[in-house]
Formats: sequence, structure tokens, C-alpha cells
Amino acid sequence: MAPTTKKYDYIVIGGGSGGSGAARRAAGWYGKKTALVSAGVSGGCCVNVGCVPKKMTWNFASINETIHKSKYYHYDATKGVPFDFHKFVDDRDSRIKTLNGAYESNWAKDGVDLIHATAKFLSDHELEITPNDGSEVYTLSADHITIATGSYATVPKDIEGAKHGITSDEYFLIKELPKSMVFVGAGYISVELAGVMAALGVETHMFIRGETFLRKFDPMVQDILTKHYEEMGVHIHKKHPGIKKVELLNPAKDESDPREKKLKITSNDGSEIITNELLWAIGRGAETRGLGLENTGVKLDKTGHVIVDKFQETSVKGPCYSLGDITGQAELTPVAIAAGRQLGNRLFGPKEYSAAHLDYDNIPTVVFSHPTVGTVGLTEPAAVERFGKENVKVYETKFSGMFYDVFPKDIKAQYPTAFKMIVQGPEERVVGLHILGEGTDEMMQGFGVAVKMGARKQDFDSTVAIHPTSAEELVTLAPGSRRDAK
Ligand code: NDP
Repeated sequence: MAPTTKKYDYIVIGGGSGGSGAARRAAGWYGKKTALVSAGVSGGCCVNVGCVPKKMTWNFASINETIHKSKYYHYDATKGVPFDFHKFVDDRDSRIKTLNGAYESNWAKDGVDLIHATAKFLSDHELEITPNDGSEVYTLSADHITIATGSYATVPKDIEGAKHGITSDEYFLIKELPKSMVFVGAGYISVELAGVMAALGVETHMFIRGETFLRKFDPMVQDILTKHYEEMGVHIHKKHPGIKKVELLNPAKDESDPREKKLKITSNDGSEIITNELLWAIGRGAETRGLGLENTGVKLDKTGHVIVDKFQETSVKGPCYSLGDITGQAELTPVAIAAGRQLGNRLFGPKEYSAAHLDYDNIPTVVFSHPTVGTVGLTEPAAVERFGKENVKVYETKFSGMFYDVFPKDIKAQYPTAFKMIVQGPEERVVGLHILGEGTDEMMQGFGVAVKMGARKQDFDSTVAIHPTSAEELVTLAPGSRRDAK
């Protein structure tokens, strides 16, 4: 067996957002001897193939949308404005390289030892380290080890030719826009990336199993956004029967240019479609591959996620902890960061933090769709299930943002803003807030604070409106907009 070269107070496996938050808190705040073992590019999924490039590309697409709308303000852009996606992608990628560097320099500043390697558990306390540079394998041990290796995009195993499609990882390699693209899946990734492609003029198809997408979101969001995407020209194949096979008729020039790639997709009902690219966005799997968890007492649930309690303790209480996507708890970057920091506080901080943990209730989130959706708390069906129908009331409003005041009536109607507030009990505590429309991405954070603090409807009402904004409609919801829960 390879020799143990070092013992640490704390080892974190995974150089993504959660791992980073955990390691920096332990080393930077509490001076613990900490190692961060990272097999991939620093910053993980969010920085490299997730939130950051996605938001930058969403910005790029949103500019194109605004240019197309500008004619209603009498700008002469009827033929559109030429754009260079390739150059934008180059700029985006160089910004991401800078962020990778920033991650590493922050770890160094905090005294975290960064180890570019893969880690495999030999026991609850001991890891076999295989350096990325091919140098000798060695072992490390620590009193505390946190597993934060995230998740990976899944590709169906049982569909012939599924490998000819891509996932969100490869999406960010694209530099030349395809003419047509198919998205399979009805979650965040499919809705966000399909929205971007449609806004850039790509013929966009979504294969969804239900009547609407975002089925875990409030019904209002599902209905309005699905309809809006159809009005935007996205071809939504509802109740899709599933794909039977994918044939590669012509390969891509290279992975950055799918324009010449030709795929034939045959569905289970025999229908066929020829397209340049197919993207699987059907969820993500817990990244436990190669971790050697079988050599520990760490247990997985039936979906393959690491089982943890509210303190991020795995079934091996004491040395092994886990957080972020690998645990399947609210798969969101800021959740992983917050969980990592709380864990660091609890393990290494002063006494008052001995019960520190992340509260997973009322986590605000935004879907960068077109337009965006913000949400915090319970959906209407979830509120009814938790509190009983008779204890839940709903306030809702739908209108067109002022930006559309000069648009023709029929076009204006295609750009809805819709807000829903779900309240519980006689004091009308806000237990769910769902907002859809332009600007809701930036609106949500502040309202998230209010909901987290336990705001009541009357607290919203007693806040003076900011006029003229769309957000003011949330503090001026009239009694007439109230209804019983369904
Ligand atoms: P999601 O879990 O959000 O959605 C995947 C959806 O695809 C399912 O809900 C399901 O919807 C559908 N689906 C599942 N299996 C199949 C199948 N075999 N065939 C067709 N459709 C299928 O996964 P994503 O991949 O979109 O995103 C992964 C995670 O990344 C999310 O949990 C999210 O938290 C995170 N993320 C967050 C973002 C943000 O905060 N803005 C942005 C992007 C990702 P249905 O049952 O309706 O068919």
C-alpha cells in the first residue's frame, strides 16, 4: 500500500462551489489544516458548465430579444442586428478562465492545500490520492472528510444511439449556432437552454413527457411559461412518447460546430425528426463514481444520493460528511456553499455554532427562462397538502409590464407578468411566492428575505410601493385578487 504522507484536520473532496465553501471556512476562518482534492477544473460545474456561462449566454440572447422588440419603440432594427456568437463564446470562456484562477487564489489566500487529483476512500478516515499529473499515488488521512463531488448530467442508457446527443456540459463548447436543436427534458436546464437558442433564432424543439414543463413549479408558472414558449415559436412536443433511437447521419465538423451534424431521431410513436443537435436534460446523477464509498459506511438512497441528516452527517457519523448535489438536497450552487460554511462553523467554530446547520426551508431560486421565473416557499398544491385547503388562500395578478405599453395589443398580450402569493392561516403568513416576468430574477432575492423572516401579507401591504415598477404589484395585491386555494 502507498505510504500515508500527510494527516490533515479536514479534507474536502470536490473543487466546486460547495467544496470551496467548506474548505475556505475551515482554513480561512478557523485556521484548520485543510486539503481540497479536486479532480476537475477549479470552480466545478457552476463556474465552468453551469450557472456562470449559462447566465452570460442568457444575457447574450436577451440582447437579441430586446433588439427584436425595439421596433415597437421605433428603432429601425426590423432586419435584426448581426451578431457574432463565436466571438462572444471566446470572451465568455476567457472570463471563466479568470474565475478559475480566482477560485484557486482564494483557496491559497485562505491556506487551503489544493490537490489536483482523484480521491478514493480506503476507510472512513483514509483516502487514496491519484494525482492528475501522473505522479505517485499516495494516501491522506483526516479527522473529518467532506464529500462534495456534485453531480453529472445523465444520458439514457437504454436508447439506441443516445450517445450521439450532448448534455449541458458539451452545450458550452458550441461556438456556431445550429439551425435546429432538440431538447429532451422539462426541468431547469432544458427550459433555460432551449429559451436561449429560441431567442437566438435557432429552430428549437422540446420533447416533454407532460403537458407543461417545470412540473415541480407552481401550476401558474408551468401554464403561463409553457404557453409563452409556444408563442415565442418553440416547438413543444407535449406528452412525448419517448425516443426509440438516434442515428447519426452526418457527424459535426468538430464539437464546437454542429451546423453540419445531422441526427435522425425516431420516437416511440414512429415519428421522425432530422436535427443538427440533441441535448439530454433529464436530470443529474450523484457523482459517487470511483469514490470507493463501498470501503466506508456511507450509505446511499435508492436514487444513488448520499444520505445525510440536517447536519450534513452521513451514516458514518463523525468523520464523513457530505453536501451539495451529491446529496440531492436542493441542487443549487448557493445551497451547497451555504451548507459548506455552516458545516465548517459547526465542526471548527466557537461553541455557539455547535448546532449550526443550513435551513433548507424557503430557499429562493430563479429559472433563467425567457422571461425569468422567481420562486420561494411552497407551491399551491404543496401548501394545501401541508396546511389543509381551508387554511390556505391565494393572491394572484397578471398584467403586462410597462415596457410593453407601446406594443400592439396582441403582441403585448404575449408577454405576461404573473405573480402569485400563497398565504396561510388567519394572520396570512406568506408561505409561497411565485413571480414570472421580466426583472423577476433580480426581484426575487429581496422578497426572499421577507418570506424567510416570516412576513405576513399585511407586512407586504404596509411597505410603500416603488412606482412605476412591476415589483410594486406585490405590495399592492388587492382583496379582490384573493381566492380560495385549489
Ligand atoms: P431537473 O431535475 O430540473 O429536470 C429534469 C426533468 O426532465 C424532470 O423533472 C422530468 O420532467 C424530465 N425527465 C426526467 N427523465 C426523463 C426522461 N427519461 N425523458 C424525458 N424527460 C425526462 O434536471 P435538469 O437536468 O434540468 O437540472 C439539474 C439540476 O440542476 C436541477 O435540479 C437544478 O436544481 C439545477 N439547475 C439549477 C438552475 C438554476 O438555479 N437556475 C439552472 C440549471 C440547473 P417531467 O417529469 O415533467 O418529464
